[in-house]
Amino acid sequence: MNWIKSKILSFVEKAKDKFQKVRPSKEDQDKSLWVNCPGCNNMQLKEDLKKNFNICKCNFHFDLDPKIKFEHLLFDTGEWETISCPSWSNPDPLDFVVNGKKFIDKYKNYQKKTGQESALLIGHGKIGGLKAVAVGYNFAFGGSAFSQRENEHFLAGAQFALANKVDIFVSIYQSGGKSVQGNLNSLKSMSTVQMAHSMLKQKNIVNIGILESKITGGTFVDAFGNDFLFSIKGSTDNLFSGKRVSASVRSSDSAQMPEDFGTSAFLARSGMCDGTINSRLGMKEKIVTLAKVLLKKSAAQDKNESNVSVSQSISSAS
Ligand SMILES: [Zn+2]
Repeated sequence: MNWIKSKILSFVEKAKDKFQKVRPSKEDQDKSLWVNCPGCNNMQLKEDLKKNFNICKCNFHFDLDPKIKFEHLLFDTGEWETISCPSWSNPDPLDFVVNGKKFIDKYKNYQKKTGQESALLIGHGKIGGLKAVAVGYNFAFGGSAFSQRENEHFLAGAQFALANKVDIFVSIYQSGGKSVQGNLNSLKSMSTVQMAHSMLKQKNIVNIGILESKITGGTFVDAFGNDFLFSIKGSTDNLFSGKRVSASVRSSDSAQMPEDFGTSAFLARSGMCDGTINSRLGMKEKIVTLAKVLLKKSAAQDKNESNVSVSQSISSAS
């Protein structure tokens, strides 16, 4: 019996070893016409996924360039204009070096690869006929790490929204957190982003956050500044530091981790977001429906307040 068991184990080890050796490189995977879907574990043709905005038949959401989201899934008739990042006076104050490579050179490569000025793509236009500013986090830009550069860009978007009295401010999150390379300069953005959120609130701008996959740390905290936060169901493991990492820090409690820890259903059930959206295709409808209800209410409140002040003036005059 032991002899059979050892033979089987030896075969499994050999098969594993062989599989590791023939495993395609990242470049080969990028060049391939096919991709393995982690949701259903089936091979999918990249061209088919592209036609459905990188959503598999099983509803697993692959990453999607924010430009495509803006053009096809968010702004009316695909028309929007970019809000630029302010000038870059001191891009790398810490002169950070990682494995012999300068961080600033890596950052410039991300710019070249994505065609973006920062990890954020910020645009303005109309969404459902309402004036809007949208912020899209691009994970292909260094895991969308949030440094002082992204902070300045985000504030430029918020300032545009305030100056132009837009109706909606939308953020579509997907980020590995605050940039380590930016150090304290990245961390201080946690307070400035929250200040921007509260200024948007004071101006009755409907502030909605959409959580896609892989969100962690400080950026997840930023998301709580939104008036409403929704999580996309097909983006599994919305929390980047998901079940495995959280279980490892909980040690003996690891067995009690909920089965769906870190998913959109878990976030909604535990009160970490206001609800879920089945797919990114339904994002616009959710935003517009909610914004129209809230803006109507806000307009009604303003009308009531002005009626009260008018009646007070009449009564004080008489
Ligand atoms: Zn799938």
